[in-house]
Amino acid sequence: MMTAEARTEERGLSDWTRQFDVIVWAADAVTLQLMHVSPNAAGILGYPLEQWWTEADFLARHLHPEDLDDALELFLDSTRHRTERSGVLRFLDANGQALPFLTKVLTLEHGEGHAPELRCLMVRLGRNTRASRECEHSRSLQRTERERDALLRKEHEARERAEALARQLAAGESRFRSIFESHLIGLVLTDNHGRVLHANDAFLRIVGYSREDLEAGRINFMDITPPEFHAVTLRALEEIEARGMASTFEKEYVRKDGRRVPVMLGSVRLPASNQNATFVLDLTERKEAEAERERFFRLAPDMFCIADMDGFYKRVNPAFTRILGWSEEELRARPLLDFIHPEDRGRGEETLAALKRGTADPGLTVRVECRDGGWRWLNWTSVPVPETGLIYASARDVTRQRKAEEQLVLAEQRLRTVINSGPIVLAVLDADGRFVVSEGKGLQSLGLSPGQVVGQSALEMYANEPHVQEFLLRGLRGETFSTIVQTAGLTFEVFYQPVLDEAGRVSTLSIASLDVTERVRVEAEREELIRQLMHERSILQAVLQQLPHSVYIAEAPTGKLFLANAQAEAQIRGPTTPARNTEEYRGYPGFHADGRPYEPHEWPLPRAMASGVPVMAEAVHVIRGDGSWGIIEYSATPVRDAQGHITHGVVVGVDVTARKEAERERERLLEELKLAVSARDEFLGIASHELKTPLTPLALKLEALARAAGAEPESSLARRLAPHVEVMRRQVKRLACLVNDLLDVSNIGAGRLALTLDPQQCDLAALVRDVAGRFDTEVKRAGCEVRLHAPAPVEGTWDSSRLEQVVTNLLANAVKYGPGHPVMLSVETVDGRARLTVSDRGIGIAPENLQRIWGKFERAVSERHYGGLGLGLYISRQIVEALGGTVKVESTLGQGATFIVELPLQGGAARSA
Ligand code: ADP
Repeated sequence: MMTAEARTEERGLSDWTRQFDVIVWAADAVTLQLMHVSPNAAGILGYPLEQWWTEADFLARHLHPEDLDDALELFLDSTRHRTERSGVLRFLDANGQALPFLTKVLTLEHGEGHAPELRCLMVRLGRNTRASRECEHSRSLQRTERERDALLRKEHEARERAEALARQLAAGESRFRSIFESHLIGLVLTDNHGRVLHANDAFLRIVGYSREDLEAGRINFMDITPPEFHAVTLRALEEIEARGMASTFEKEYVRKDGRRVPVMLGSVRLPASNQNATFVLDLTERKEAEAERERFFRLAPDMFCIADMDGFYKRVNPAFTRILGWSEEELRARPLLDFIHPEDRGRGEETLAALKRGTADPGLTVRVECRDGGWRWLNWTSVPVPETGLIYASARDVTRQRKAEEQLVLAEQRLRTVINSGPIVLAVLDADGRFVVSEGKGLQSLGLSPGQVVGQSALEMYANEPHVQEFLLRGLRGETFSTIVQTAGLTFEVFYQPVLDEAGRVSTLSIASLDVTERVRVEAEREELIRQLMHERSILQAVLQQLPHSVYIAEAPTGKLFLANAQAEAQIRGPTTPARNTEEYRGYPGFHADGRPYEPHEWPLPRAMASGVPVMAEAVHVIRGDGSWGIIEYSATPVRDAQGHITHGVVVGVDVTARKEAERERERLLEELKLAVSARDEFLGIASHELKTPLTPLALKLEALARAAGAEPESSLARRLAPHVEVMRRQVKRLACLVNDLLDVSNIGAGRLALTLDPQQCDLAALVRDVAGRFDTEVKRAGCEVRLHAPAPVEGTWDSSRLEQVVTNLLANAVKYGPGHPVMLSVETVDGRARLTVSDRGIGIAPENLQRIWGKFERAVSERHYGGLGLGLYISRQIVEALGGTVKVESTLGQGATFIVELPLQGGAARSA
């Protein structure tokens, strides 16, 4: 029997369940067939009550599909362990909207033969409660389902039709009392002061007090409320006062044992008893789950974040700061698009816009800036929750994969580039020799395009080229080899690589051909070039070794000698010890002309290499291997490379010992000759003086003798003497001439000729006529004839006696060397100068003697045929030049000679001045 009090309470509870969105139901724990449902369920979810227990699988059909698994697990778990379980489940209302409920289930045993009963309490979570938010966060992550809309609308219509019926069925409230007696929910009746009057066991278990404590009045709502929840609790009391109920809110109680317990409360005024009925739900389990979720959020290696629709981060987990380096504050300070790489930002904007429209993002991979300036590739999965204006997103750092992908793409591109740019042909044949693949730029040179021959038989294609066919057959038989193939005028290097199947049979043959036509040509050219170079080199070496001079080659700048030819040893009459550096040149016995030894850097080779300027023919005195002295002229030159850097030095040595000795000998002889000549001149000077001395009295005595004989011309003595006197006169005159010439030579040698010049006014024409007249006898005797051409006097200031001497010499020579021929003399003034020409038709002078005959004692005829000292022309030239004039000869051998004298009219005066 139910007491009046109990009935009142039951009614109150029924009110309470009506006012709060609380649904209670009971179902068969095995089939989940509903047995009881609280009537307000129809109002909360919008399905007529009738539908709740008539529709098969009502629960499964109206739970949010995403929560179905969670719900079944919750129910099963509770049944299996016979314990109370709670969780947040979403139910779809008749409008298709998902409503979250804090759902507590408990399984009750009804003994043998009875199925256990599942009892459930569902408290609708308001939008503003934290539990609801958390639920939304976690549930909406995958929510995209909208397809039930149509179905739900239909159900809504059905609901309205069944509404009336539902109200009638709602009468059976008393059935639900049993639910409140269960352990599902704490229930408390309090007075206006918060004193607990009645409480069920569930409440006592939540707060840890005993029924004795309750009955002794030891439980006061305010006492078991921690101070920080006083305010919210008082607000709820005020709300009850004002509105008769307080909406659900969360707080904590302090249990008797001092521990805290999180709870959810809702209160209603029971007007009949003027008491407040409060339901209390234990949230411990859910809080733990929340804490766990929070822990997961904080510790997860992946990045999780919540952002608002304006594109700002609201919350990020520590993985964010760990991976990107930014602090949570820094991330929240700027729009999240700001962190995206400019090139990827467009895609980021599109995704954000789609999320704002409520579309879930299919996945976005963008570069996100790190605090250190670097970029990381993040793969995002985001879900918008338009109701809360939030976006939930997770991100995975895929930088490494991305890099690897990029590398792969690059490698592939490179491979493609190689295949498409190089002279390569890649082909694969099947076991029958048919082309499966034919690629590569090298195909162009064969006049084929990639893939063109695929399907064709390679063996048929090369039917006319048996050697190619043979190679293909070898490859198809399973042989791996490479070879050079000539086809279509091209040369290919071909690699055959058969691929075997599991049974060891050739399944395909890979062929890589490299067009090496150009390479082969270039190589052949290069070989030819090398051959030529080697040939030239061998010639060069032979030349070097056979050269009559020594050759050394050294490295610059060390001075290390690395080549010395055979002649080098011969030259120094000993082995050549190759110096390893310039310093070691000290070992070579070389000396300057003054006997000072060569310092290493003084040798021509190091000097040329250091200065870059060749050193030419430097005579070095050396002590040879056999101890003898020698002189070697070394010429060194630097050798430069293409850039102009000195890399080597070459030195050539010429042994000049013998030449130098000959030179010295010649110098000695020359010196001796000079001494002999000066001794001769000295002797001639003395001799001519001494000869002249007796000559004058001899001439006077001869004249006296002639005069005496002339006094008695008819005497026999005079007649006998007469021809002798004439001969003696001629000979004395000739002797006098010779002595005079000698004296002149001696004077000229001593530089005294000029002093004797005595200029005076005279007529050259008259002078020549006079001399010719005096020569009459000699001219006749020689069978000659003098033809003088002197149309006018040629006046000038000259030393006439010396001029006479010149004319005499030239005329005498013309007669002497041209007997039997006429002699032409001409005197005239040409261009203001006096010109005398003496021309004969005698023996003439050979061209090689034309210069020589002007020298002292120089003659161009044999002494046996022509007498003379060879002084006439020499003295004549000295006189003419002393008078400021010139004399020259023109002659052809055997055809006579012409001597031309030209004098300035004031010659003698000019000289004497
Ligand atoms: P010389 O007549 O005493 O030998 P010169 O000095 O007068 O000495 O002449 C030198 C040389 O010039 C002669 O020996 C002769 O060979 C040559 N010579 C001079 N005059 C003539 C000439 N008119 N015809 C040919 N040869 C000449």
